[in-house]
Amino acid sequence: MRLLLKFDSKTIKVPVISRATLETGALINILRATVGARKGEIIIEVEDDKVQEVEKIIEELGVEVAELVGAITKDEERCVHCGACISICPTEVFTFNGEKKVIVEAEKCIHCGACVKVCPTEALSLPE
Ligand code: SF4
Ligand code: SF4
Repeated sequence: MRLLLKFDSKTIKVPVISRATLETGALINILRATVGARKGEIIIEVEDDKVQEVEKIIEELGVEVAELVGAITKDEERCVHCGACISICPTEVFTFNGEKKVIVEAEKCIHCGACVKVCPTEALSLPE
């Protein structure tokens, strides 16, 4: 399960992910982290059977937690198979198939939004 953590960088003073790992024994994979002077967002991947425990601990430390559902979607009618999304995606969600058509492995998506910005035909979208 993927979780989106949102927090106020000024108020969070403890290493929340390390704390959650130590207290639950869960293996936590950090997929994306954006931490600014005021706000931070981290996407983590947690084993399904540990999700509730991890969520509880992180929330108790003052972090907003939401389960990340859905992934990138491609509107096949708009896609012109230019390959721009292949170049920019950090997790290799997009590849050309044998017919030079761009195919999507959405389960690899970490919701960074980079492909949405570069697509010339606005064929790509992320869930809210
Ligand atoms: S960038 Fe857009 S138009 Fe180009 S291959 Fe990707 S989804 Fe299709
Ligand atoms: S949102 Fe990011 S990770 Fe997801 S498909 Fe687009 S570029 Fe790849």
